[in-house]
Amino acid sequence: MDKEKLFTYYQHTERLLTIMTDMDGFKVEDINTELSGLCRLFRISKGITEFYSSLEHERSHKGEVLICYDDGRKCHEVLSKRIVTKAMTVVKATVYMADGEEPLSDEERKKVQLLMKTVLSFVARNRLQNIVERLTFYDDNGYRNMRSFMRYIQQLNDKDKLGGNTAVHFNLRHFTLINQEIGRNAGDVVIHNYFTMLEDIIGNQGIVCRIGGDNFVAIFDDSLLTDVLMVLQGVPVVYDANNSKRIMVSASTGVFLIPEGFKLECPGDIMDKIITSSQEARTGGSDNIIFFDDDMVIGKEKVSRIQQVFPEALENGEFKVFYQPKIDIETGNIIGAEALCRWERDGQLVPPMEFIPVLEQSTDICKLDFYMLDHVCKDIRRWLSEKRPVVRVSVNLSRKHMMDVDLLEHILRVIDSNNVPHQYIEIELTETTTDVEFRDLKRVVSGLQQAGICTSVDDFGMGYSSLNLIREIPWNVLKVDRSFLPADDSNSHSSKNIMFKYVIAMAKELGVECIAEGVETRNQVDVLRGNQCMLAQGFYFDKPLPLADFEKRLDSKHYDIDEE
Ligand code: C2E
Ligand code: MG
Ligand code: MG
Repeated sequence: MDKEKLFTYYQHTERLLTIMTDMDGFKVEDINTELSGLCRLFRISKGITEFYSSLEHERSHKGEVLICYDDGRKCHEVLSKRIVTKAMTVVKATVYMADGEEPLSDEERKKVQLLMKTVLSFVARNRLQNIVERLTFYDDNGYRNMRSFMRYIQQLNDKDKLGGNTAVHFNLRHFTLINQEIGRNAGDVVIHNYFTMLEDIIGNQGIVCRIGGDNFVAIFDDSLLTDVLMVLQGVPVVYDANNSKRIMVSASTGVFLIPEGFKLECPGDIMDKIITSSQEARTGGSDNIIFFDDDMVIGKEKVSRIQQVFPEALENGEFKVFYQPKIDIETGNIIGAEALCRWERDGQLVPPMEFIPVLEQSTDICKLDFYMLDHVCKDIRRWLSEKRPVVRVSVNLSRKHMMDVDLLEHILRVIDSNNVPHQYIEIELTETTTDVEFRDLKRVVSGLQQAGICTSVDDFGMGYSSLNLIREIPWNVLKVDRSFLPADDSNSHSSKNIMFKYVIAMAKELGVECIAEGVETRNQVDVLRGNQCMLAQGFYFDKPLPLADFEKRLDSKHYDIDEE
């Protein structure tokens, strides 16, 4: 090789090596430019590399074929090299010369072979990196994972481009029940289609990642917010395309609108914010979408304060049982009561919604529920001993108890140790959201039933599972949530009216007692009568009453319903 040729050779190889050893990325076109130069230098008319992720793929020709250079002339193969890597991937390089071209000298041949080896080891390493990238940034099902999300955020942060984006954390609502309803495989299809729907909206203006189970995160340009929220609020998702079967899917979502100029203080900054707000969306009221604001951090402090003082407050008897009467609207008699908890703290009455959700974050709620049950039993025992009129009292048990395998024994122990006949106690439970809970719930309710203790499903109609729950579990009482009660100004054909009618009729057919919660007006009482729902509880009759007031009510035992 003459001097000039050698110089060109070294120029190309040096540039090639610089590109190939750049750890932060390279452009395939740059590599091809250098390889094309080298091919021309060595009179090579075509150069190709092949990559197969396994021997099997090589055999069936399922791989990537990259043509680095092809001058289009008719040619024949002159050199070929094939390597099977330790990871059992196959890389291959082949060079061709045009027919009639002067053959390679020994020196040229050696150089070309060295180049081929270099290219092959580069391709092998690079593909391996892709595999590692897949394993690192995607989960087993091919969804981007948490690391992808954190990397994306870090990249935006490095470029000072976080502002103007929105981050969300979302959890699919009642997904376990969806799985129960349509089967796990169809459930997977639902997740896939829902995910794809969001990916299609977000495109290359952000990413969506699955961080485990039915929990997801996404970050995207602010301009897409409305479209994304529309999907999160609830859309029908196809799970059986052949039979065009669809199911409604919605999510509890925490949203953080990242302000202009926002910089990460620590890597988990944004994650903390969206998780906090999404937890609020999950456990709070009916709002499925909650925007993060700084007050929530104060909320967190409040949470830890409540958790801190709870044991002492329980010990000091700061929790009081209030009783809300249940009325037979036909006769006006009190037929029962619900025990509701109030916290007397520093001379103030704290309503349950301020502390129950906090106690539900740990098993503290279980201690409180048993404390309530014990106090209710003590009151009943006293009423019985004093020969007062006694009614059945219902006690709320949190879903958290479902984890307790000895729950049934615990309940019976408290009731029996107070020597209270079982017929005076009713246990209120709310809907469950997981398979395991559902199974446990069924076991507990059946057990209570066998022990002669009534069970009621509380807040019926609030969630997705309602019908399944009624069909599969032998409840005694269905407490129809107040959201089902028609408002005073609605006409008799309103959807609420129709739903209410339907629910009462269904309960009757299944032989389950029905009571309407949250009855506030005379008009609603009439609606109940019209639908043959003769039991009611609500402010129209009484608010939850302190013990002494309730005892007075019990003594008179009667309400004049038509007197407002
Ligand atoms: P819940 O079990 O559904 O109890 C009924 C709630 O509705 C009570 O709220 C009651 O005061 C309210 N209510 C009754 N009538 C009316 C009405 O006419 N209109 C309106 N707007 N509301 C009415 P409260 O006492 O604030 O309790 C809220 C929730 O806290 C309860 O809902 C229950 O889920 C929970 N809770 C209360 N005490 C306990 C307890 O000891 N243990 C557990 N685990 N949860 C409890
Ligand atoms: Mg209740
Ligand atoms: Mg309720």
